[in-house]
Amino acid sequence: MIELKSTPELDQMAKSGAIIAALFTELESRVEPGVSTLDLDTFAETFIRSHDGAVPIFKGLYGFPGTLCTSINEEVVHGIPSATRRLADGDIISIDVGVKLDGWCGDSARTFEVGDIGEDARRLVEVTRRSLDRAIAAAVPGNHVGDIGHAVESVVEGTGFNIIRDLVGHGVGRQVHEDPQVPNLGRPGEGPLLREGMVLAIEPMIAVGTWRIRTLSDRWTMSTSDDSLSAHCEHTVAVTAEGPRILTASEGAVPSIP
Ligand code: MG
Ligand code: MG
Repeated sequence: MIELKSTPELDQMAKSGAIIAALFTELESRVEPGVSTLDLDTFAETFIRSHDGAVPIFKGLYGFPGTLCTSINEEVVHGIPSATRRLADGDIISIDVGVKLDGWCGDSARTFEVGDIGEDARRLVEVTRRSLDRAIAAAVPGNHVGDIGHAVESVVEGTGFNIIRDLVGHGVGRQVHEDPQVPNLGRPGEGPLLREGMVLAIEPMIAVGTWRIRTLSDRWTMSTSDDSLSAHCEHTVAVTAEGPRILTASEGAVPSIP
């Protein structure tokens, strides 16, 4: 069942989202060669808990050990923070985080560049960001969930990159994973109708090579099957009469909508 949120509820959700936006701003200067993914995770947990009542959602969710999912290069999602995994110049790292505040969830991810990255990586990150922007712009009343996936496709088409097909976005609210599923491929007009008050985590995952993924031996990390680079960008977005409202953007920030 798809739950609709009132404007006051969206305002509450924006508060958990603002903590995530602030966290990502903090992480920008901390993502650098030599730092371990556990260092980033420890910082993130402390930062989140420093906000009254805020808790990291992923820690313990289905048994996941970290506050952050830290997925490097060919890793797509669900990388486990580790003291021995250190970032190197030229890496890209996708960081995914959920925060719950006063019962309401936010979910967001961003791919960061570590030092000087290669041309493929730079283009991949740019295409992934742009596909998220385009998908967010499709999150308006009267559109359907299929319009969102179609928007992602329209950006990725012709780049030579591939959309990870087996992982999807989702509704967000009191639970971090709610209905509906939000695939990154779709046809306009198909899938559930978008209505005012729906809140969706839109999260394109794009690979330089194959869309196929595999789970590593840690039973969490999902990698591309051909070990090609992969990027992941996600925002929690409300469908409103005034247009898409990005709940995980910094307060007062003007969303970049094409
Ligand atoms: Mg996420
Ligand atoms: Mg998500």
